Amino acid sequence: MSNLNQTFLKEFDQEKIALVGFACDENSSYIRGAAAAPPMIREALFGEASNLWSEHGIDLGHTDTFFDAGDFHFNSPQEALSGIETAVSNLLQHEVPVISLGGDHSITFPIIRAFQKKYPELTILQLDAHPDLYYNFKENPLSNASPFARIMEHQLASRLIQIGIRTMNGHQQQQADRYNVTVIEMKDFQGPTNLNLKTPLYISFDIDVLDPAFAPGVSHHEPGGMSTRQALDIIHALDGANIVGADIVEFNPRRDPTGITAMTAAKILKELSAKIIETKS
Ligand code: MN
Repeated sequence: MSNLNQTFLKEFDQEKIALVGFACDENSSYIRGAAAAPPMIREALFGEASNLWSEHGIDLGHTDTFFDAGDFHFNSPQEALSGIETAVSNLLQHEVPVISLGGDHSITFPIIRAFQKKYPELTILQLDAHPDLYYNFKENPLSNASPFARIMEHQLASRLIQIGIRTMNGHQQQQADRYNVTVIEMKDFQGPTNLNLKTPLYISFDIDVLDPAFAPGVSHHEPGGMSTRQALDIIHALDGANIVGADIVEFNPRRDPTGITAMTAAKILKELSAKIIETKS
């Protein structure tokens, strides 16, 4: 494990966004591989295949755009649970949005524990093929199929909105009703709508919200999803929202032979970062 408590405060200067990677996939319920994602997303974003200008004309290529805290590795799921929360809490002390790169979706529970302490009235916008609301999945309450059950039962968010869902089942529908989750299933999705997003807003972007045709490098292939363009339209439509943090999770490089999913995750990171900067300036 990297040192969690030390020099963030000293090193941090005037950067606008904190970036951190969590190399975790021990809670993946199906196949592993997502732990290798963070460096590949960075490589795709900062590589020579594209440039760092967003579609709306924000140049992320300045040295003061990202404070990169690097990637964290943990020895066990329990260590990850506390270590992720501590790392995110430390970064949030700098009063900047924090973007976390997964890793599987289990990282979102400890991330949100850190956010809730700073933002007691948090709205979460989750883009995902899956509700991830299982009370307990394969005897693992920390499973990547359960983070939003943990978040809602601990009352860590005032509101949860899910978009792109296409795997709802009876148990998870009960959980969604119980926690008053707003679910916009993929079959009903009509494009960006005014969700009246109460701020502050946290965005949890599971790459598998995209159709596997656009982003095959995920552990759970779920056909019938969103195009990359539809996802970008949602991000671009977040005008006026106070985006305080985000995660990009579930990219699995083992299933991405051409590198298209890495590039897609990098594109989401780029446009999301630009949107954050745009809405704060
Ligand atoms: Mn998912």
